Amino acid sequence: MTLTNMPPTAELQALDAAHHMHPFTANGPLGKKGARIITRAQGVRLTDSDGVELIDGMAGLWCVNIGYGRRELADAAARQMSELPYYNTFFQTSHVPVIRLAAKLAELAPGDLNHVFFASSGSEANDTNIRMVRQYWALKGQPERRVIIARRNGYHGSTMGGGSLGGMAAMHAQGGLPIPDITHIDQPYWWGEGGEMSPEAFGLARARQLEETILALGPERVAAFIAEPVQGAGGVIIPPESYWPEVQRIVDRYGILLIADEVITGFGRLGQWFGVQSYGIRPHILTIAKGLSSGYQPIGGSIVCDEVAQTIAQDEFNHGYTYSGHPVAAAVALENLRILEEEGIIERVREQTAPCLAQAWGSLSDHPLVGEAVSRGMMASLALTPDKATRAKFRSEPGTVGFICREFSFANNLVMRHVGDRMIIAPPLVITPADIAELIVRARKTLDQTLDHLQAEGMLRVAA
Ligand SMILES: *Cc1c(COP(=O)(O)O)cnc(C)c1O
Repeated sequence: MTLTNMPPTAELQALDAAHHMHPFTANGPLGKKGARIITRAQGVRLTDSDGVELIDGMAGLWCVNIGYGRRELADAAARQMSELPYYNTFFQTSHVPVIRLAAKLAELAPGDLNHVFFASSGSEANDTNIRMVRQYWALKGQPERRVIIARRNGYHGSTMGGGSLGGMAAMHAQGGLPIPDITHIDQPYWWGEGGEMSPEAFGLARARQLEETILALGPERVAAFIAEPVQGAGGVIIPPESYWPEVQRIVDRYGILLIADEVITGFGRLGQWFGVQSYGIRPHILTIAKGLSSGYQPIGGSIVCDEVAQTIAQDEFNHGYTYSGHPVAAAVALENLRILEEEGIIERVREQTAPCLAQAWGSLSDHPLVGEAVSRGMMASLALTPDKATRAKFRSEPGTVGFICREFSFANNLVMRHVGDRMIIAPPLVITPADIAELIVRARKTLDQTLDHLQAEGMLRVAA
């Protein structure tokens, strides 16, 4: 393909800076530097407007599970657009793609998670969840059960509801979040917060904060607990093995609803269809989005258990989005699920590529800057530290070193993100062992350059 019809990069960058407000970005500084413009993609690789190829270590934003360039999804969209581009399901109507997708999700989801309420994103789905769990308890005659417990450094989206459930201090600092009746407990982040405790003891302690919080609030006021099986945007925080069984014991004991936010961990990222299957968790509601369509169309939703769905069904639920169950998005999601299933992509992750990534990524732990290098399925992270032995933090503002490392990575044509001073990847599930090897070469080079830079700048210093 030629780029003859494309304006020069500088012209695009100027227009972008003049008119496009980037999410989660300081647009002033970006405008001066110019955004990198991605023009096409195939498999696990992106191409920018200068024709340079990058490895997409982040699968877009954790979503392009089947990789880029799958013609079948474009065809499914085109077919559906010709046949029925839009119709709603508000007023006693339905349509074929939404019916088939809901049934397919009920088949794939574990236990009695048999009912789906659709949205166009993970944020919207979590907003649905807030209203649904409160309405559930109201219908059960316990309207005082309104409080939802979530976690610091969890991520549940960027709407008023999603951002409130999330425990991102930087988000709460802007725009009046969180909304009332949301309470946050600490995350199970052993490397960063575990001190002298063993990971197992720390995992139990962090789970027991849930019980302490339920008791402090009064169990009769608590509606639900929401958490990601593995925290994604918080920095790919993999909980100690002791954490989830204890959380399950606590939600069972106090009879509160468990919402597993599977927006990242769903659809194969942890080597099973859903992350709760790999942790043995039994949630009442699963939040889904991202990998549901591999990002080819915006679609999300809540997969709901029989008990909650049947209770909600007793009355009109005054909630919905114009694009809930959008036919084109649903048709594309179905095609994506077909490919994931028929091509055995999830089994390949579990049996071949996740062990390969674990081994290759783990080898980075010998690097002087790396405090830990961990992975689960196709999610991996490493902690940058000025002193491995003490798990020390840098003296610079948190995120300064991570940002420097990310800049080197981007220059090395590897998309790797930073969260504070953790580096993270979550590549498309179709990444091959050869691609993983190349990714690791670029990541190691990036770490070497970062180390040299920190030494040259006198930044290899432990926080006071
Ligand atoms: C991305 C994400 C969301 C929000 O999804 P959007 O589609 O961006 O609204 C919610 N929860 C988790 C765990 C996510 O990673």
